[in-house]
Order: sequence, then C-alpha cells, then structure tokens
Amino acid sequence: MTKEWALCRHCRAVVYAKRLARNHGVCPQCGGCFPLTAHEWLDLLADRDTLRLLDMDVPSDDPLGFSDGKPYADRLAAAREATGMPEAVVCARLSIVDSPVVVAAMDFRFMGGSLSAAVGELITRAAEAALAERLPLVVVTASGGVRMQEGVVGLMQMAKTAQAMQQLDEAGLVTACVITDPTYGGVAASYAMLGDVVIAEPGARFGFAGPRVIAQTIRQELPPGFQTAEFLLERGFVDLVSPRAQLRERLGRLLSIGTRRDTAADVCPAEQVVVREPDQVPEQDPWDAVRRARHLGRPTTSDYFRMILDDFEELHGDRVGGDCPAIVGGVGRLGREPVVVIGHEKGHTPADLAAHNFGMPNPAGYRKAARLMRLAAKWGLPVVTLVDTPGAYPGVDAELQGQATVIAETLRLMGALPVPLVTVVTGEGCSGGALAIAVADRVLIMENAIYTVISPEGCAAILWKDSAAAPAAARALKVDARSLLALGVVDGVVPEPPGGAEADQTAAAALVRSAIRVELADLAARDPARLLAERRARFRRFGSGADSLTHSGGSQ
Ligand SMILES: [Zn+2]
Repeated sequence: MTKEWALCRHCRAVVYAKRLARNHGVCPQCGGCFPLTAHEWLDLLADRDTLRLLDMDVPSDDPLGFSDGKPYADRLAAAREATGMPEAVVCARLSIVDSPVVVAAMDFRFMGGSLSAAVGELITRAAEAALAERLPLVVVTASGGVRMQEGVVGLMQMAKTAQAMQQLDEAGLVTACVITDPTYGGVAASYAMLGDVVIAEPGARFGFAGPRVIAQTIRQELPPGFQTAEFLLERGFVDLVSPRAQLRERLGRLLSIGTRRDTAADVCPAEQVVVREPDQVPEQDPWDAVRRARHLGRPTTSDYFRMILDDFEELHGDRVGGDCPAIVGGVGRLGREPVVVIGHEKGHTPADLAAHNFGMPNPAGYRKAARLMRLAAKWGLPVVTLVDTPGAYPGVDAELQGQATVIAETLRLMGALPVPLVTVVTGEGCSGGALAIAVADRVLIMENAIYTVISPEGCAAILWKDSAAAPAAARALKVDARSLLALGVVDGVVPEPPGGAEADQTAAAALVRSAIRVELADLAARDPARLLAERRARFRRFGSGADSLTHSGGSQ
C-alpha cells in the first residue's frame, strides 16, 4: 500500500487515506478500527483547545546491555527516529466533554507498544499526576506485552503500574481504560484491566497469551472470535464495546457521573407518593398479588432504567468470566443526581424471557451486582436496586460456580457499603435471589408486587404436598404489600396507577422515580457511619423481640 491508500484488515477494502483520517481511522466500508497513534488518540479525546502535553522527563536506558544480534540501544534509537516519540506512551492533561482528566495513550508503532521501564514510569507518573490534582485517569492501551529487551526490569512494571492504579482506587478517583487493537501480555494483565470502567474498541484483540502462543505451546484450537472485544464482552471481561465515533461522548458521560457531585435535589411535596401506613394500602388477596406481580406487561428493570434515568450507561460483566443477562446494571442520573443502578431483568415476550433466563441470575449476575456496588462505594454514589425475580437460578452450573457463596458475599457487601442504598421490589421478590440485592437502607415495594421466602407453589408442594394449594400458601405466607408493610419488612408501598403498572408503564415509572428520589434525598445527609449503623439495626430487629412484628413507621 502506498501512503495514499490503506488496506482494512477487517473487510480487506482499500480505503483512501485522507478519507480514513477524516473518519478518525474508522473504515468507511465496514466500521472497523484502524490503529491510531498516541497523538491521534489525544486529539480524538480532547475538547477543543484543552490538550496540554505533560512533559515528563523519564530516564530511558538499557538495563541489561541487551543485544539479540542488534543492540537494544540501536533498536530504541531506530524506534525514536521512526516515530518522533521518546517512548511508547504520551501523557497529557485535557478535558473530555468538560471533564478534566489525565490521559496516557500508548502507541503500537513504538516497538509494538511494549512495556519498558520508561513506559511503566510514564503510566505511573500519569497516575501520580492524576492523584496530585485529584483528576480521573484515562489510559488508552495498545501493546504486545512486556519489552523482552529489558528483561525482568520490564516485568516489574506490571506490579508498579498496578500499584499506581490501586492508589487511585483508594483516593476514589475514576479510572477508565480504552482497549485498542491489540492489547496483550503484561499490559493486559496489569493496568489495562484495572480501570473502574474498561471500554474496548470493536474488534480489538485482547488477552494475556496471544493466539500464536496458545497454538504453539498448547496446540489448542481457538473458538471463533476468540479474544475479540465482542467475545470478551459476552464473557464479562469488559464493560462495553464502543464504536470510536461514540467513544468520546460515552467516556465523557462516565467521567462526569463518576466525578461531579450535585447534592441531592430538593424534592417537592408532590413526590411524597409512598404509603407508609399498612391500613392505607388497599387490601387484596395475596394470591391475586402473586398473579399481578408476575404480569408480563409490567415494566421490567430495563424499562424502568430507560424511563426514570438520564444519561444511563449500561455496564456489563463480572470480570471473572460471565455477563449474566438476568441482572442488569450501570450508571445514570436520577434528576441531577448520579446513581448506580442494578436490577433483575425478566423481559416481556417468550423470547425475551428466555434470553434473560426468566430473571433467574447465575453467580455471574451477583458478581456483576457486587462489582457495581464496589464501584458505587469508590465513586461515592448511592445505589438503587430493583427486585423482580422468581429466585436465583437453581441449576447445576450455578451450583458449580458457587451460587450460595456469591449470594452470601453480596449480603455481606451490602451490609457494609458506605453509600445510601434504596431497593424497590417491582414485581416478584422471591427468596435469597431477591434479598441478595435488597439489603438496603430503605426497602420499598410496589402495590401489586410480592416478597416471599419461597414461591407459593414451592411452599404448597413442600408443606401442603400439593402445588394446587398455592393460593392458600400465598395467604399463609403474607406475601402482599400491605402485609409486608405491617411486618416491617418493607418501609413503604409505592402506589400503582389505576389498573396496575401493566396498564400504564409511564405513570408507574413516574411513581417509582418519585419514591426513590424522596428516599435518596432523606438519606443524603447521613454520613457513612450513621448509614451503616441504621442499616444494621434495620435488619437486626427481625426476630429480636416485639418490635420485629409490628409496624415501626419506618426509620424516618
Ligand atoms: Zn473495513
């Protein structure tokens, strides 16, 4: 190819280079991403006139006096000559959609973006600059791994950069990693995967051991799409895959949500919709409530997120190996206030229901929920959870992957999460799979939703020896909103529009939104110590004596 033309590795199209440059290196034929240089990345991300390169005088040497026939010092000199860069990273301070950040961008042209002592030093100093100025850090990665010519000194950079990322975690500063093609080895296995949010470019290849290494050493056949961004998203290792054209805006949204604090807005009297006295909740047969709670026309968690949030960005994955479709979550704004949201997802149609495993999470779902809760704790954001599940998935795989362990750990995590937590049971709140995301400061339930230790059918089959006794079991279990409020299991009931949430989704969402806003506004003034003490007391009281079975009027 001449300089005027470029060959797309995705669709094999020959593309006019000037057109490619205007398109930020995105193939006009197939949307595939061509590599960008470090400076091109900084230009792509920066708001106009905000880019200031950080002049970091980092020593770069040849610690081993290495030669593989050609001295390393000569290779280094050649790379500098070819790229005009001192090393494979460029650092800058800039703004992304009005959020000031420190950015470190890698350049694959410089010795394959390999991790040398100087690269590790530049990444670390970028992190230290972010720490000193209390700014977020964004790292754009492209690398083949540790630079072999620097031997174990290169290897040590993995530990050094991981520690630098950890310091930003301790300081509560947002970190984001943009994975570009390719990112492998020691960079993949250190700072590239330690961002609060990991965004991959479409088609980017990412992994520890590259396909050639696997083929040569283990001789395994590789599955289709192996190690591509999309493959990794499905397996829970990245939060999202973003086309380059949307990247700046989405990154800006995430940075803004993670860094800018507006105090909870005042709520107006019209938003005081929650019913807090049991005798003001309309009576209904608990079995009717069970049937209504399961109505497929009720808004799902994703419907509520779409209707009640601004700037919602769904985040995927547990970073361990799965992205459970029965639990969805992400970040967004409720009014002006940034929040982390998590909930069970069922769906409306048979195909939808199957795709979301009927709202029954596997362990990856609870690990995703836990990861988002830890993110909320780091960013100092309140957590809102929506409960609608027939229970955690009762299957062999779920057991093998530690279903009991992850539920137990999520209960413990919520008990100690130093940010406000509000739960709304919007449909079926069934068993430990529901409670696992419902250890909140305030637990609300919708008028026609239920909350129960076991499905009435399950209870009837075990205790009545007859699943047809489910209506009797529902009554005996007191699964309806009015009974739950009287028991003090919930702090309030969110009314539903005439005909129920299924009759008017928009009106139902407006009521849920108001209810959550009122609780968050009330909790906003509490410091973490008080929040935790009150949350523990809220759950400690069940079974502690007389108070547990009488309505306490909530904790307000
Ligand atoms: Zn193409």
